[in-house]
Amino acid sequence: MILRIDRLGVELPPPSTPDPNGAAAVQELMGGKFGEMSTLMNYTFQSFNFRDRKSIRPFYDLIANIAAEEFGHIELVATTINTMLTGASLSDAKDGAYKQHFLFGGKGALPADSHGKPWDGSYVHSSGDLIEDLTHNYFLESGARSGKLRVYEMVEHEAARALTGYLLVRGGVHQVAYARALEHLTGADMSKLFPTPRIPTEKIPECKPHLDAGLHLKLYRFSPDDYKEVVAVFNGKHPETGEELEVVDSPPEGFEPKDLPAETDVFAPDYAPEEIAEIANKLRKKAGLK
Ligand code: MN
Ligand code: MN
Repeated sequence: MILRIDRLGVELPPPSTPDPNGAAAVQELMGGKFGEMSTLMNYTFQSFNFRDRKSIRPFYDLIANIAAEEFGHIELVATTINTMLTGASLSDAKDGAYKQHFLFGGKGALPADSHGKPWDGSYVHSSGDLIEDLTHNYFLESGARSGKLRVYEMVEHEAARALTGYLLVRGGVHQVAYARALEHLTGADMSKLFPTPRIPTEKIPECKPHLDAGLHLKLYRFSPDDYKEVVAVFNGKHPETGEELEVVDSPPEGFEPKDLPAETDVFAPDYAPEEIAEIANKLRKKAGLK
């Protein structure tokens, strides 16, 4: 089961100048082959399909726990797209890169890539062979970080920069986690593959505060009582910095999501949102909430 917390892993800026074409590029991080839907669904299916858990639980715990973090990454990408579309003009959108954001999505994120191609289940690699799946996951996190850097370079909007700065750091942790799992299993010196891709995160202003806070070393445990054996795999030194890796015994504290305003030109949530607010208010009172 998933326990859901209504907070975001990183603080995203409030809406400013709308950037619909930038939001179209950010869609690649949602539903592209190397997007967050792919990381979430790869690790989710691999964990669902994981056999003989009692004998090799540390590896199960690692994959299942990282899957939970990826759910929050999808939420961050969606929030970024919504932030960038807030206040965008419907009439300008006809010349934009991604008309479905307006015509179908009501200025919201869609489970598709930057060209509108829906996310595809064939992006999931769950072979049943643990070493094969871990190798795939290392490759997936590497490709995902390349994609994030390219979106960072392409899109100047501050929400996209805050998103990619955070995800570059977190993706680095997942890369290290899968590399370390492979080292424990095979003895291969995966540290020689670092840094792949070559991303100088310490020079990226939106990465810097997360590095200063040590987020490149921490793997969070996204469960009150489970996935505790992750510590048996995620340990030792970071292959790039030599600092000690750490499992944090809880999810990150996170940040309250910004309440994005209604967009009445696309009827989101309605052409007259105040009517729905009035109904909600009556229901709250009846439920003794207010
Ligand atoms: Mn991710
Ligand atoms: Mn990841």
